[in-house]
Amino acid sequence: MPSLISFEEALELGALTDHEDIGALVERAWEVRRDRFGDSTDMCSLVNAKSGGCAEDCGFCAQSRYAAADTPMHAMMEPEQILEHARAAEAAGAHRFCMVTQGQGLSKRDFAKVLEGARLVSEHTNLKRCASIGHMSVERARQLKEAGIQRVHHNVESARSYYPEVSTTVRYEGRLRTIDAVKEAGLETCVGGILNLGESARQRVEMAFELAEINPDSVPINLLNPRTGTKFGDRELMDPWEVVKWVAIFRLILPDALFRLCGGRVENLQELQPLAVKAGLNGVMMGNFLTTLGVEPAEDRAMFEELGLNVARQPDNGSNPRPDNRSGWLEGETPRTPVDDLIDSQAEANMWDPSTQLRVIKKKGKVPAYPEPAGWGD
Ligand code: SF4
Repeated sequence: MPSLISFEEALELGALTDHEDIGALVERAWEVRRDRFGDSTDMCSLVNAKSGGCAEDCGFCAQSRYAAADTPMHAMMEPEQILEHARAAEAAGAHRFCMVTQGQGLSKRDFAKVLEGARLVSEHTNLKRCASIGHMSVERARQLKEAGIQRVHHNVESARSYYPEVSTTVRYEGRLRTIDAVKEAGLETCVGGILNLGESARQRVEMAFELAEINPDSVPINLLNPRTGTKFGDRELMDPWEVVKWVAIFRLILPDALFRLCGGRVENLQELQPLAVKAGLNGVMMGNFLTTLGVEPAEDRAMFEELGLNVARQPDNGSNPRPDNRSGWLEGETPRTPVDDLIDSQAEANMWDPSTQLRVIKKKGKVPAYPEPAGWGD
């Protein structure tokens, strides 16, 4: 489905400031969302399976060795622990579970742990499985698929024209190559980025149209949660109405994408989170984020239910029909899904918790300065 608005229209909408005008835009985006997806939702959750000490220079990321801040560390998690957090996420009402690791790619040993984690989650839960493990070859993407991964997340992070400001060590072209490899292996793609890294309104629109070109199944949008010591650590949070407006614009540019808000939504949106849902979201990241805390499961579910949306697990969760756990290489009964006895608070299950599971390590020696964006001073 092509975009419902042109580049120029998107720019005009991006200039709206009046809350009534933004409210009207939200109604338009809500219609589009209802039209495409009915009352279905697609709720994610994640585990930070390996954190910290990353050699790359992504300017928003506290895990980077260039961030003048303590490092939130976590060695590669064992597959059984990944399963434990997946079970908790399922009890919270998440439909999908993403295994996330830092850096551009994994060692053979760590990759094997992700594969085993994916197998365990496939066998013992009804969650859909995603992985976010940096760059990969078609061969690795195929191995993920065989282990039960259905969707791979790999962001472009920002507009191509702004990307040199965001990272110099992780190449934009490499990101596109990984996304192609994932498609070639027959996996779904989840590709989005972060708003408020200093990009202009035009660059936000550019990014949305670049995503439309990539045509991922799912589009996760993060909102910068400035971490002290990172390149973008001094930026201010977004105005909540601005966030709502851009969610609606992205929905109109990407009418068929499963669209979700992830990191930074709590801090940037505050009490306007429900309005952002109405502006076109299919879901949010439930539970906690990679290094920061999220919301209680009951609050997130209620936010969607109050709009008449159905947060129960459905065979396809709003995407195209796709095989569930039992229709592929797995045998036996589908595991029981805890739909009737969902937990309300994170304390009731062993969810991924960055406040207790990450070890904060002091950086020793001088932290290297962020490299200058390519093109500067040339
Ligand atoms: S976003 Fe990923 S690759 Fe970039 S610095 Fe953070 S952990 Fe490393």
